[in-house]
Amino acid sequence: MRLNPADERFAETIRAELGHDVLRPVTERYLEEPRQRFVGQAGLLALPRNVGEVSALIRLAGDAAVPVVPYGGGTGLVGGQVLPHGPAPLIISLERMAAIRAVYPTENILLAEAGAILADVQMAAEGADRLFPLSLAAQGSCRIGGNLATNAGGVNVLRYGNARDLCLGLEVVLPNGDIWHGLSRLRKDNTGYDLRNLLIGSEGTLGIITAAALKLFPRPQGVGTAMFQVASPEAAIDLLSVSRDQVGEAVSTFELIHQQGLQFLREVLPDIRQPFPTPPQWSVLIELGLSAGQNPSEMLEAIYVAAEERGLVSDAVIAQSEAQRAELWAVREQIPEANRLIGSVSSHDISIPISRIPEFIRRGAEVVAGLGPFRVNCFGHLGDGNLHYNAFPPPGHKKAEFAAQSGAVKRAVHDLVHAFGGSVSAEHGVGRIKTEDLQRYGDPARLQAMRAIKTALDPKGIMNPGVILP
Ligand SMILES: Cc1cc2nc3c(=O)[nH]c(=O)nc-3n(C[C@H](O)[C@H](O)[C@H](O)COP(=O)(O)OP(=O)(O)OC[C@H]3O[C@@H](n4cnc5c(N)ncnc54)[C@H](O)[C@@H]3O)c2cc1C
Repeated sequence: MRLNPADERFAETIRAELGHDVLRPVTERYLEEPRQRFVGQAGLLALPRNVGEVSALIRLAGDAAVPVVPYGGGTGLVGGQVLPHGPAPLIISLERMAAIRAVYPTENILLAEAGAILADVQMAAEGADRLFPLSLAAQGSCRIGGNLATNAGGVNVLRYGNARDLCLGLEVVLPNGDIWHGLSRLRKDNTGYDLRNLLIGSEGTLGIITAAALKLFPRPQGVGTAMFQVASPEAAIDLLSVSRDQVGEAVSTFELIHQQGLQFLREVLPDIRQPFPTPPQWSVLIELGLSAGQNPSEMLEAIYVAAEERGLVSDAVIAQSEAQRAELWAVREQIPEANRLIGSVSSHDISIPISRIPEFIRRGAEVVAGLGPFRVNCFGHLGDGNLHYNAFPPPGHKKAEFAAQSGAVKRAVHDLVHAFGGSVSAEHGVGRIKTEDLQRYGDPARLQAMRAIKTALDPKGIMNPGVILP
């Protein structure tokens, strides 16, 4: 269906129903996205205060056939939070719906409005002596509605799962303006189709999430953090097994780091203190969340000894203080920033069956080398089989010089991922960037079912047009 722009006439319709306070001037930040691939069109910006206002806005947008872009913290990495082409949209930001509605410590549940910033949700859980484990570098800006809409991953997936696994229920405004009151606190409820899991990961294309019931966990009583030098990606995978044999589910983070990332840090962020005097070829950041009575350093030492006996590790730095822990984390968390400053020719957020990762890394290096003199920085959530696999220009060159090869690199890497039975979007989503990939690699029957669902729920196509299904 043909869509119309969110223009002054539509603004008047909104003001007539909802008053003058809901619309705000569209400032730059609502039109930008971190990768700087797209610039959004301005249209109108609405900041609703409650689910009733969201419902009214969606109903009006449906009546006027105006496109709607749901907006959380704007940190999404696949361009879903901006609409660069077509009629200018109504941007609906959830930032004024940021309340923690309730915490139920005995049930281990927290109810948050969608605009709550992830770090605030974590703090509210901590205030009740509980843990909300979703954790990512953007947690000071991203909002829980955005996290659920993208099914965010992060550094604790290994133990606690993705955003999807941390959600029990949702309150959602559907594309026709109906409110689905699904804010369930039930852990068992087998009553038909699972709308919650349909909405999670739908990137604003099937409705607007306005609140969520989130799962909490006991807070670890001790935290152990270390960086281990490992002989190879195979050794890293074996180290994960050894760690789990030693401490079971206490392993919450297991991040692979390649020498290239550490060299980039030295080049562009030299103030970041690195654990080893010479950047090792491969290392792993490991974190344990332990119960009372378990000594973090002793547990990490036990893992090291067991791994050393098998020839998997050659050195380690075990954090002895909160400051040292922060230093080790800074190394991992600043690698994306170093990548950004160097400038990648092509970046890939991929997942591969874990046991095939070493072979993939070898084949990937050959494939990329066959296309040009690129440097590859391969790092990420090894425990989840999720790698960030990025190609960079050779030293002394800029990414712009290789712009013409960017598409070929991406295609070659994604073809290889597909051949390895992997996914071309492990945790960032499809957004606008990966729509062609979804068409190319997606299962035809699944794509057909997805289109049928989209058409049934959003027949006018107002919700985030161009995202996931173009
Ligand atoms: C430095 C950095 C590190 C990151 N690290 C990770 C990481 O480790 N793991 C990871 O998974 N991601 C990571 N990301 C990506 C990003 O933080 C996540 O995708 C995050 O979940 C997006 O949340 P947001 O609130 O910023 O959403 P936005 O960017 O505002 O929106 C993202 C998408 O969700 C839709 N949306 C937003 N709110 C709603 C809502 N209430 N209802 C329906 N749809 C909505 C938007 O329309 C858009 O399609 C990182 C990003 C940055 C900048």
